[in-house]
Amino acid sequence: MTLILKIAIALIVILGVVLGAILVPAHLQVRSVDPALPSSEQLESIRSEDGPTSVRYLLSSAQAGKTRSLAHMSFLVEWANGKAFLIDAGMSHKQALEFADLVKTLDSNLQDAKVFGTVVSLMGNDLSRIEGVGFTHLHIDHTEGVKKFCDARGSGAALLQTTSQRDLHNFNTTEGADIVANSCLQNGDLQALSLLEGDNDSNMFESPKFPGLAAVELGGHTPGSTLWVVALADRTLLFSGDITNDKHSLDHDIAKRALYSWMIVPEYIERTAQLRKWLRGLDQSENFSVIVSHDLENAHQHIKEYSSD
Ligand SMILES: [Zn+2]
Repeated sequence: MTLILKIAIALIVILGVVLGAILVPAHLQVRSVDPALPSSEQLESIRSEDGPTSVRYLLSSAQAGKTRSLAHMSFLVEWANGKAFLIDAGMSHKQALEFADLVKTLDSNLQDAKVFGTVVSLMGNDLSRIEGVGFTHLHIDHTEGVKKFCDARGSGAALLQTTSQRDLHNFNTTEGADIVANSCLQNGDLQALSLLEGDNDSNMFESPKFPGLAAVELGGHTPGSTLWVVALADRTLLFSGDITNDKHSLDHDIAKRALYSWMIVPEYIERTAQLRKWLRGLDQSENFSVIVSHDLENAHQHIKEYSSD
């Protein structure tokens, strides 16, 4: 055996060991989260007279693509008294451009990002109405905006988080988890769980401070992936995060690419398949609409865009 061949084999073995050491624990961890999913009756049981009166989307940035575009949105849930809850914090302008470059290396069909603003620049003085924040999951494109949010908002907003989102992290979520844990979000030391009353049978969590809003542990995409349920007076909206990247994949039961789910973002593919089926079933019933984090058309179909006036 030549020296070069020996070196090549050694490098391949080292690469395999390193990949295995990172990927195997991440796959085992994400497979540890597969709680029973609530029924449609359980989802609707959170409806309250004091519940939210509207939900709007904030569009921070978008990358156009051949067949689909990739939008970055946050969702603002509002109550009659002016109180608001933010689902996902988006990114800063700089991070949005960097993230778009990264995504372009994975999908060459996507163009450069158009950045429309951040949660802070889009909301201005309205920011002080946000009394709580929750995340569909802790990837950086959903969490990094918390830094600027805190600079502008100061303390006073609560963090609602399931235990799996608080405690289970892999190489894709540790950075976002640190940002959230060290943020201004009240009990950002992750005691915010005391705001949530767990229902062991349904794995739904509510906060008395935010009637008509609930979190459901999903897993699948990340160990802490969470569904946010918003029960308006006449319909229930389900914010499914990145279980699929677009609504089309949910409607037509299309899995993500194997390379993505096995190597780039370690997913529990049987669980995401189960979740697609469950969400599609709910979406097909009259009372529910699923809204996928990165699909602007899907959001636009069901809710209005936020504007500060
Ligand atoms: Zn995402």
